[in-house]
Amino acid sequence: MHPSTLFAIDGLLTDEERDIRRAVRQVCDKEIRPHVAGWFETGELPARELARTLGSVGVLGMHLDGYGCAGLGAVSYGLACLELEAADSGLRSLVSVQGSLAMYAIWKYGSEEQKREWLPPMAAGERIGCFGLTEPDFGSDPGGMRTTARRDGSDWVLNGTKMWITNGSVADVAVVWARTDEGVRGFLVPAGAPGFTAHDLKRKVSLRASVTSELVLDGVRLPAEAMLPGARGLSGPLGCLNEARFGIVFGAMGAALDCLETALDYAASREVFARPLASYQLTQEKLADMALELGKGMLLALHLGRLKEAGTITPEQVSAGKLNNVREALDIARTCRTILGASGITLEYPVIRHAVNLESVLTYEGTSEIHTLVLGKALTGLPAFH
Ligand SMILES: Cc1cc2nc3c(=O)[nH]c(=O)nc-3n(C[C@H](O)[C@H](O)[C@H](O)COP(=O)(O)OP(=O)(O)OC[C@H]3O[C@@H](n4cnc5c(N)ncnc54)[C@H](O)[C@@H]3O)c2cc1C
Repeated sequence: MHPSTLFAIDGLLTDEERDIRRAVRQVCDKEIRPHVAGWFETGELPARELARTLGSVGVLGMHLDGYGCAGLGAVSYGLACLELEAADSGLRSLVSVQGSLAMYAIWKYGSEEQKREWLPPMAAGERIGCFGLTEPDFGSDPGGMRTTARRDGSDWVLNGTKMWITNGSVADVAVVWARTDEGVRGFLVPAGAPGFTAHDLKRKVSLRASVTSELVLDGVRLPAEAMLPGARGLSGPLGCLNEARFGIVFGAMGAALDCLETALDYAASREVFARPLASYQLTQEKLADMALELGKGMLLALHLGRLKEAGTITPEQVSAGKLNNVREALDIARTCRTILGASGITLEYPVIRHAVNLESVLTYEGTSEIHTLVLGKALTGLPAFH
């Protein structure tokens, strides 16, 4: 029995959602899976080509309305994230940052001109975006950011450094959050603006099939129209992060599913002490426990998706989903790795790649500790962040 059959998840989806899931899986099978271990090994990703491929199937900003975006429901978007992350968390990161962080910021907070200029080519994958919030000294606490934007006549001048920025060096536009006299504001910084540089972060052992960069803003002069007019204060970037976190609730289950499918196959064919590994009770306990957590995580993701579609989802509920599903996915990946024995440490199988990728997923878009504190505050009314 396939692990998804246990919980009859497919029956909870509409025909359209099943079709979208199948279409994204087909693209992953054709364009991503055959190459992704190699990209991971070399740490090089053909991001531009992939963005065009993903744009051509409509997954970039697929949950946004208008401006070339498909306007699909939250569950469809979640299922696309699941299939992408079943291939690799790095590919899902490319799509999340493009659609839920960069495009969403422009869609939600941008002027009509900014939307018209950037959203259609970003939906098509002809232009890539990144989202610069984190700084070298401020990750979990972005309110401490040091990047500034000061007015000079009608222009803005930006100074500062952003760190760990997905898609940074391949982006055509960076959504950069900076401190101003009127609080935190967002700016659209085009690649090539004088004083703006992006450098890739090397020696990563996780999310190697993903571009991660440092952005340096050294006196970058931008016209007044570069500011996102609709975002004031930290609620601007936090609103975008909530969108991306939602995709991770589904995405993490994709990585877990790929690991579990691999482990089930391996346990069925690997003989130990003259019997298939799958026939031992210790192995079956691992498989049963993983199928349970996978099924529960999928049901949670679907429930949150339906709440999002109804417009009633809260940030605390997204935190609960991200915290649970990434934590369980990582646990599943590690357990699957044990089933594969020594083979589990090689890139011949996707399991160790998912496991190390999920270490990043546990940390970005709010660490597990921060989401725990969000839930702690919700339950007790007492904030324990400081
Ligand atoms: C591969 C990758 C891609 C990323 N992409 C982007 C991107 O595109 N854009 C972007 O802006 N950022 C991005 N990030 C940054 C990411 O969001 C931050 O790394 C994350 O917010 C954590 O910040 P930090 O690394 O500075 O850790 P810190 O904030 O320094 O945290 C270190 C540890 O302290 C814990 N901690 C923090 N505060 C508390 C507290 N109050 N109580 C208890 N424990 C606490 C944390 O949970 C963590 O365990 C990316 C990160 C990675 C790894």
